[in-house]
Amino acid sequence: MSFQALVTHRQEDGSIVSGVETLDEVRLPEGNVTVDVEWAGLNYKDGLCLTGGGGLVRTYPHVAGVDFAGTVRDSADDRYAKGDRVVLTGWRVGEVRWGGFAQRARVDADWLVPLPAGFTTRDAMILGTAGLTAMLAIDRLEALGVRPDHGEVLVTGAAGGVGSIAISLLHRLGYRSIALSGRPEHADALKALGAADILPRDEFLAQPDKPLESARWAAIIDNVGGKVLAKALRQVKYGGVAAAIGNAGGIGLESNVLPFILRGVTLAGIDSVMQPYAARVAAWARLDETFDRTAYGGLVEEIRLAELPLAAERILSGKIRGRTIVRLD
Ligand code: NDP
Repeated sequence: MSFQALVTHRQEDGSIVSGVETLDEVRLPEGNVTVDVEWAGLNYKDGLCLTGGGGLVRTYPHVAGVDFAGTVRDSADDRYAKGDRVVLTGWRVGEVRWGGFAQRARVDADWLVPLPAGFTTRDAMILGTAGLTAMLAIDRLEALGVRPDHGEVLVTGAAGGVGSIAISLLHRLGYRSIALSGRPEHADALKALGAADILPRDEFLAQPDKPLESARWAAIIDNVGGKVLAKALRQVKYGGVAAAIGNAGGIGLESNVLPFILRGVTLAGIDSVMQPYAARVAAWARLDETFDRTAYGGLVEEIRLAELPLAAERILSGKIRGRTIVRLD
């Protein structure tokens, strides 16, 4: 009945430390489905939860991990039975509730999604919250009228999880994407995923700021916020759309109204955490059809629970490339 988990503690001096511990199943939180976790993913938010950043974790000891995939161990809910393969992302699991950095998790059935038949649990965590969010962003761009023949799509934070998966999906869907990245050393990997070109972040930010700049982008998928999103918005073409996903570069947004009132630009917020069930199922089904697992394979790094604290520091300092997944067996 015992299992291994990465348990995060707040010490008396306020410092946050995590280590692998063996826990008894009675320690699991309340919930109607218990899952044997096979793989978890590492996301920017996990970096915050493992270091005490952002005030996301309210109570300690805590088990972080905002997404996981595995097999149902037991279920008191009619929708799931022992042996079903499931994936969970969001719902503040891993933040205010115990999450996926453990061999076992107990959750509410409402938060689970059945794994599409074409996916292994490992595939599901290569995508994880990052892949789901990239898919939701592309769905939103398309719902707002963006099409491949409208022009280039700028993807910011391109070498990270959401950015690199967005590039891969855009390529499969026929879009020409430009990867904005602060790490030129990953240019070849991003081009191999389908990026048409690389725009170095410092070069982009060094161009003089104007209230409206030359119109270049049919759409933006932004993972960075701050100065990058502010500048990119001033370069969106008439009728284009910017999908705001992340804040890896800051939560600020200093802008002006001209892109909106003179070019009809839409700024669309993307949230994956509280997405309703039907939208999640639809996004996972489209990922199943669209995601090129083979092409993305080179951007996947596998780690174990004990390696997570170091990986958390790396993701917060923008040093992780693509997706890091955690093997729980
Ligand atoms: P990653 O850390 O994998 O990627 C973030 C990327 O942003 C980095 O790889 C880097 O890309 C770039 N970056 C990092 N620091 C800075 C900086 N100081 N200035 C400019 N760019 C920077 O994270 P994820 O891909 O998992 O997540 C990206 C963002 O999206 C995060 O803010 C995350 O919290 C958010 N997010 C939001 C979701 C939602 O539901 N709205 C869901 C998932 C994530 P490069 O080196 O190529 O420049």
